[in-house]
Amino acid sequence: MMDLLIPDKTHDESRQGEALMLKAETAKNNGRKLYIESYGCAMNFSDSEIVASILAESGFETTSDYSIADVIFINTCSIRENAEQRVRNRLREFTVAKVKNPGLVVGVLGCMAERLKSKFLEEEKLVDVVVGPDAYRDLPNLIDQVDSGQKAVNVLLSREETYADISPVRLNSNGINAFVSIMRGCDNMCSFCVVPFTRGRERSRDPQSIVAECQDLFDKGYREVTLLGQNVDSYKWKSKVEGSEPEAINSVSEAETNFANLLEMVGLINPNLRVRFSTSHPKDITDEVLYAINKYDNICNYIHLPVQSGNSRILDLMNRTYDREWYINRIDAIRRIIPDCAISTDVITGFCSETDEEHKETVSMMDYVKYDFAYMFKYSERPGTLAAKRYADDIPEEVKQKRLTEIVAKQQEYSFYRMQARIGRVERVLIEGFSKKSDKDYCGRSDQNAMVIFPVGEGYKPGEYVNVLIERSTTATLIGKVVE
Ligand code: SAM
Ligand code: SF4
Repeated sequence: MMDLLIPDKTHDESRQGEALMLKAETAKNNGRKLYIESYGCAMNFSDSEIVASILAESGFETTSDYSIADVIFINTCSIRENAEQRVRNRLREFTVAKVKNPGLVVGVLGCMAERLKSKFLEEEKLVDVVVGPDAYRDLPNLIDQVDSGQKAVNVLLSREETYADISPVRLNSNGINAFVSIMRGCDNMCSFCVVPFTRGRERSRDPQSIVAECQDLFDKGYREVTLLGQNVDSYKWKSKVEGSEPEAINSVSEAETNFANLLEMVGLINPNLRVRFSTSHPKDITDEVLYAINKYDNICNYIHLPVQSGNSRILDLMNRTYDREWYINRIDAIRRIIPDCAISTDVITGFCSETDEEHKETVSMMDYVKYDFAYMFKYSERPGTLAAKRYADDIPEEVKQKRLTEIVAKQQEYSFYRMQARIGRVERVLIEGFSKKSDKDYCGRSDQNAMVIFPVGEGYKPGEYVNVLIERSTTATLIGKVVE
């Protein structure tokens, strides 16, 4: 299956299957090594950091070489069938390591573990332990159980778990950008989507713990945080406030923090800490959020607003709870309130019963918005979802593919158009490191999340901001030089 992935950090194709490393805490070292590999969205990569923290507390050291590991974990994604296939193929590759070291513990974590539960143990004999996304605190016990010769499963979902108190460790970090999870789960029940089943009910994390984590990251030299949730606009936290006036003593009221408030709280940590977030939901993104983005220079002018389809009937079948007009209204609001805002999206082609005419409305939506980036997918039926139960997956593979190819070509045009429009402008860029192609160039991102390449020079280094005059572009990269 062909998914076009245009660079964005929330689902970074180049990081799929990456092994994560953490420096050893020698004082607690139990002499055992953990190898952890992650797939899917940024939330999974962030969860692998939580897993590594929990196991570091039990004395595990991480390794990037699975052949010397005592425990191999693979943090999985279920979103499309090909994501699951990739994990199964990868598991086969661990067979030799297990034959060489029969004491090796092989574990499957994340969405696929939650979806398949103990069936995983029957289907993949290599696997010793299956752990869902809300059960990571139980990992040390589960490993003990495997050590004593049993298989172990914990796929309990929780209504409370946010891992808010787990002190964050950053794996494979450049020390500049970090993901911060602000909520877990999803209550939306889009008919195509497996996430509500694999990640459970939506719950928000205490804002004070989020701000403390971001402040700590800033103090350690980080300069960009991306606040993560499946639907950040429905972030909500209620806290009790005790009355301070004499007549109000003993009175307790409730104060609510919404996503706009949280953005401001994080934005106020320091003007040099950039704040990004993902993912916004068209039904929930409010003007209040847009005004907060516009008010603070360090809250980046970039919104990922998945449309999925440009046709109202298909949106209804998808249970997205908005229609074409509503989505256009939200786009118009973004353009009005944040004049220079990049917008990216997700699109699914060939959803159940989608006609050519309906597909054309997705194309015309792309013409209307002229997205900066897009993730584009062919519909993949997922067992257990509302769509799998209610509708036939009746669009032939060739038609899905043809529609995908068409929108991929369209998006290439618009990505190039958006990039070209930046030529001659000066972009404020946070330097992330050397460019992938040459250590004579640095790379970093603009406020609008475009990748910018420019020559390495005296007087600036990774983690610092520079102004770059854009001279030319490709479809995915701006190229320029540093100016005062
Ligand atoms: N919560 C986010 C939202 O609502 O936009 C994104 C969640 S999902 C991890 C990322 C994207 O995967 C979705 O926006 C959708 O385009 C795509 N996706 C989800 N389920 C899919 C399926 N069954 N087939 C194809 N694409 C799918
Ligand atoms: Fe899936 Fe919809 Fe929730 Fe996104 S909002 S995670 S697409 S159910």
